[in-house]
Amino acid sequence: MRALDRFFEKKWPLALMDIAQVAIVCIAMVGGVAAKAADYTGPILDAHLHYNVEAWDGQAGPHPPADVLARMQRNGVRAIVSNSRPNDGTKLLAASPLARQAGVTVVPFIRLYRNRADYDSWFKDDSIYDMVLAEYAAGTASGPFKGIGEFHLYDSANANGPVAKKLMAFAEAKQLAVLAHVDDAAIDLLMANAPSKGQALRLVWAHTGIGGAPVARVDALLARYPLLMGELSYRPGLTCPDTQGREALCPEWRALLLKYPGRFVLGSDTWINQRWQYYDPLMQGYRQWLGDLPPEVARQIAWGNGAKLLGLPDPAP
Ligand SMILES: [Zn+2]
Repeated sequence: MRALDRFFEKKWPLALMDIAQVAIVCIAMVGGVAAKAADYTGPILDAHLHYNVEAWDGQAGPHPPADVLARMQRNGVRAIVSNSRPNDGTKLLAASPLARQAGVTVVPFIRLYRNRADYDSWFKDDSIYDMVLAEYAAGTASGPFKGIGEFHLYDSANANGPVAKKLMAFAEAKQLAVLAHVDDAAIDLLMANAPSKGQALRLVWAHTGIGGAPVARVDALLARYPLLMGELSYRPGLTCPDTQGREALCPEWRALLLKYPGRFVLGSDTWINQRWQYYDPLMQGYRQWLGDLPPEVARQIAWGNGAKLLGLPDPAP
């Protein structure tokens, strides 16, 4: 910038040297802007994906396996956490030869819902616990289940429901990840219900609190529970679109991601079919704000953290 200042202070005509200096500064500035705006181009692990019955509907729905796998493939999504209401959708994807062809690793999670009514009672329903045990014993065509969830707790006190307690103990014993759509109070309760009191429970906080828990509170929870991870779909306050309408990280969230680069993952949360329709711009938006981060941090959030959690190797090029 000093050369620019000198440029404006100088009287015309400029010495040739000054012009060269200004040109170098201008190129550096343009280069700097371009580098900041460069999208992340590496692999993505979609750590929060649903393949619910209305998407495929016995393969007659609008998004059969070929459709959703093509969406993943063209967006560089190389692995997914699949869970579905009921679990048949996940099993369908896990068994599909198209997944391998698309270069997508399907990591199955056990959903706690057979139907919509289960959302409100799973935490006290022993038939859900029995279902989880049966699904876990059976596994899928792409291998064993590696997690449970996503589940919801609309009232955090239900984290103390008898089945919720048993499932946290089960998950910890089997080293299963737990994908939980809950508030910050329920994070503490679920952790307290694990035998390790939260030190060994692999809890993935869906949306990192869809209600927008303050960044300081998220920070405190990450500090308290060493295996807690935050999934970032729908997270309020995460991005602040820039003047060109690009997705950019808001400053306090950028600082949090840099403070805990190993603790966040991405997700699409395809909870309704509309989310499948917008899968491309969703992933493009993630690639935009990931470009705000140092490349190694972007890759951790996009791929590495989830891959470590789920025991996946790097994808083939
Ligand atoms: Zn979800």
